[in-house]
Amino acid sequence: MCGILGYLGNRESVPILQKGLKNLNYRGYDSWGFGLKSKDKIEIIKDVGDFEELKDFPRIESNCGISHTRWATTGKVSKENAHPHTNEDNKIAVVHNGIIENFQELKEELLKRGHKFKSETDTEIICHLIEEYSNFEFPEAIRKVFLKLRGRNTVLAIHQDYNYLVGVKSGSPLTIGIKNNKGREEYFIASDSRAFIHETNKVIFLDDNELVVLK
Ligand code: GLU
Repeated sequence: MCGILGYLGNRESVPILQKGLKNLNYRGYDSWGFGLKSKDKIEIIKDVGDFEELKDFPRIESNCGISHTRWATTGKVSKENAHPHTNEDNKIAVVHNGIIENFQELKEELLKRGHKFKSETDTEIICHLIEEYSNFEFPEAIRKVFLKLRGRNTVLAIHQDYNYLVGVKSGSPLTIGIKNNKGREEYFIASDSRAFIHETNKVIFLDDNELVVLK
């Protein structure tokens, strides 16, 4: 039962994600990570242990980010296996909750097609599969990939070239928070509304097999 939190809006995402993720601490975790869309790339900060122990969090300007606390199911507890995971050119970043039951066969096919992996996780295959659908718009690529995954899975994804945050789920909960901040909407998306309920009580619960595009 890991924690997932994403933010898209007009404020700095790092403090919002840090505070929200802390509210998901009750779920427990063995490693953690942040994927932050900055001006020209996606910055990944991740490690094993307790994210609150990282005192000098790098200064990253970002209004769109995803974050994760992991309970390892596939692959050992390590920095490489912590989420977010990325594709080879690091343009796509994904956090995931669940277990992809057919991950071995999907990974073998990807390896045959020449993909190189940085982790042992089932999650990383999602990034490589999305990359293979790069002739489709990002949300459509995710939809196509999600349909290939067996098991109960919840995914958040960002792409360097799109101002979207995409979420999709077939198992554990995924909730969206909407806040009007100085006339502009901002969005939170999390495995539990505790991660953002101090910001807004306008909450939408996604149903299984629903995909949401926050822009
Ligand atoms: N199966 C994924 C992993 O082992 C996600 C685990 C989780 O839900 O925290 O990295």
